[in-house]
Amino acid sequence: MRQGVENNHTFAVIGAGMSGVLAGIKLKEAGYRFQIFEKADRVGGTWRENTYPGIACDVPSHIYSYSFELNPDWSEFTSPGSEVQEYFEGVSKRYGIEPYIRFNEAVTRCTWMGDKWEIETEKGHVEKFRWVIAATGILHHPKYPDIQGIDQFQGPIFHTARWDHDVEIKGKRVGLIGTGSSGVQITAAIAPEVEKLSVFQRTAQWIVPNERVVYTEEEKEAFRTDADLLQNLHVEMSNAFNDGFATSVIDGNSELLDGIQERCLEALETVQDLELKEKLRPTYKAACKRLVVSHNFYDAVQRENVDIVTESIDHIEQTGVRTGETLHELDVLVLATGFHVDAFMRPMNITGRNGIVLDDVWKDWPSAYLSIAVPEFPNFFMLNGPNSPVGNFSLIQTAEMQFDYVLKIVDHVKQGDINEAVITQEAYERFDAERYEAAKGTVWATGCNSWYLDNNGVPFAWPFPFSRFREEMNAPKIEDYETTAT
Ligand code: NAP
Repeated sequence: MRQGVENNHTFAVIGAGMSGVLAGIKLKEAGYRFQIFEKADRVGGTWRENTYPGIACDVPSHIYSYSFELNPDWSEFTSPGSEVQEYFEGVSKRYGIEPYIRFNEAVTRCTWMGDKWEIETEKGHVEKFRWVIAATGILHHPKYPDIQGIDQFQGPIFHTARWDHDVEIKGKRVGLIGTGSSGVQITAAIAPEVEKLSVFQRTAQWIVPNERVVYTEEEKEAFRTDADLLQNLHVEMSNAFNDGFATSVIDGNSELLDGIQERCLEALETVQDLELKEKLRPTYKAACKRLVVSHNFYDAVQRENVDIVTESIDHIEQTGVRTGETLHELDVLVLATGFHVDAFMRPMNITGRNGIVLDDVWKDWPSAYLSIAVPEFPNFFMLNGPNSPVGNFSLIQTAEMQFDYVLKIVDHVKQGDINEAVITQEAYERFDAERYEAAKGTVWATGCNSWYLDNNGVPFAWPFPFSRFREEMNAPKIEDYETTAT
């Protein structure tokens, strides 16, 4: 144990996905005692849960990696999901994190007991921890569409995050509802295999064309033997994505986004059939919804056996999906309808000081000071929590910065600058009001519907330049925390 680290600074980390594994590695390195609770039987989070055909990480692999564990062996510029899963499993083994994880043990309750958090799991175990880090992710509660008759369908029906690999789709008539990043990847992957693919598209998407780049053995060998090469690539890409793209999305009139839209339009021009091309043409600004990246979606939808259905779904019947007079007969129905993004660590029951329940605080929509802390919930932090930067860039880098921030706050408590880490109501409200105003000027607020919007239609992602996020994380404002314990 690191010198000066007291035994009573024990941490509970909830979730062993990308950010929970990160927290484990960093806590272990710093000599803290900790326990990670994971509801499933393996690490990996979203990459464990999403195994649909065609799954890949559309963020370049060399930045979708921990900064301290760059991987020379990524097979592609944007690698398959199974490889990303292997990466997280490999890293957690290499850093000896698995013994710290209690698998198959979801946390059901966190209650502040005055000086510690009491945590209860689904197995009925109750333990106390001084600190809690919720690393539960955003995209993990599948959203099932509220379509009349959905329970009448007689064939297999499943959500993209619950892909049923026992169901044979080869040679079958498959229906796919939704054309977000998941639906587009699936369309491109299964179109050549199925007899017929009916894609139910409610809103056309901007598709950013990318080229499939498979790294050669020589390139991988160069990454293996020249650490600087890998490091420089990581830094260059990070700068381009964070200070370039992540910063442009907060400006609804950004020239960079206009350029991206031009590239998307050029790709759309490759669609030969005029009627199909118009069906696929979005009527809002590119990047208003999260950009969908694909090198083969437009090829797939031009196949004879693929039908882009834009008539709205009326209801679902035993044998298919009905739009107006037409019954689209199907053997299998896939729901690529996204996630409940406002859940975060709920339905966990979380009670802070004075009996305040998180569900009540978040009854309209979840929010957190700098994406990390909520008043009345002392010593409780989130990684990739509400108002975090999200988009077509690496959430790993965001989580690393957030984790560093958390440890700095813990240090302030240990040094006696504050008794507990509880953010003031004033700081929380000040931040929230400022981010709410800033959100209105972002590209996400330029007139489209997306999962980036709260239930008032206001974007909830980080609406400031990425440089501000970096600065805030680097230098926590301790004056925003309460100075005395109650
Ligand atoms: P999504 O982006 O939320 O898309 C959901 C799709 O379902 C939309 O096309 C939506 O239409 C449609 N939909 C929802 N309810 C419907 C209904 N009742 N009737 C008809 N259509 C309906 O979900 P997702 O594709 O799973 O992606 C979610 C996020 O996961 C992404 O934005 C991304 O952050 C992440 N992701 C990342 C990758 C990656 O490569 N890194 C891959 C997959 C997913 P509307 O557009 O009209 O709402």
